[in-house]
Amino acid sequence: MKPLAILNTCLLFLCSILTIHAQNKEVVITVDTLSPQVYMLTGQGGNIGIYVGTDHVFMIDDQFDRLSEKIKASIAQLSDKPIAFLFNTHMHGDHTGGNASFNGPQTTIIAHDNVRGRVMEREKKNLEEAKINETFYENMLPEITFSDDISFYDGDETILGFHVHEAHTDGDALVYFMTNNVLHMGDTYFAGRFPYIDLNSGGSVNGLIDTQKKALMVINDETVIIPGHGRPSNKKELSAYTVMLEEIRDKVVQAIKEGASLEEVKANSAITAPYDATHGGGFISSEAIRETFYKSLRSQ
Ligand SMILES: [Zn+2]
Repeated sequence: MKPLAILNTCLLFLCSILTIHAQNKEVVITVDTLSPQVYMLTGQGGNIGIYVGTDHVFMIDDQFDRLSEKIKASIAQLSDKPIAFLFNTHMHGDHTGGNASFNGPQTTIIAHDNVRGRVMEREKKNLEEAKINETFYENMLPEITFSDDISFYDGDETILGFHVHEAHTDGDALVYFMTNNVLHMGDTYFAGRFPYIDLNSGGSVNGLIDTQKKALMVINDETVIIPGHGRPSNKKELSAYTVMLEEIRDKVVQAIKEGASLEEVKANSAITAPYDATHGGGFISSEAIRETFYKSLRSQ
């Protein structure tokens, strides 16, 4: 082996060690206090919302199964009341992965109708491949589902869960704590980064923009927003984000009208250039967002 080849092999080896190290890296659950009763938990995956009520805890999303014990320990620091309700904002594994660990005699899992169907489909496959057992499978599924909206009442607080159509997926719901004035938007809002829109699970660009406009009508300048990913946000930032999505949409629609192909739109960095520095550093690159917008808008 030539010296250069040996060096390359060594670098490759070092790289794989570093990758394994990164995967096993200790996940730390951090807590942001957003209002007297609402907290945001960050670990790995979608942001968790926690409401501490008069006699129970109301939880929104649960990240991954492997983090459940850490998340439970974090919640226990906030309250020793039981988690009566666990609300899934949508079906993705980084928001529902802990369902089976949290599901129990004291906890009821709630989600939009389409979430149950999609989680069922995914977990059935896992069951068939013997990755999970029957009990785990049953505990992953939401136990109460709704089609449009659902309300929870606790003391002075009303918690409103409402479905939005074809946004990030076909089963998204937003959760608004009316008195605490906190809105959890699930993955219909990726604060500070380009959005991931799951076109294969019923998501769409126009549905996502409509959802954000709906959210802007519900909230006020004091509302704290929990985005699916990213730091806590507010109306001003969401407003600017919606403008960004509309600008990118209008440019892609124009390109489609002019007969541009997918490859041409993917290569046309001018479409997203004004936002690359502020929003291109996440898991969705600017090229990926141009591709998603093209595919979603062309099919309409
Ligand atoms: Zn998602």
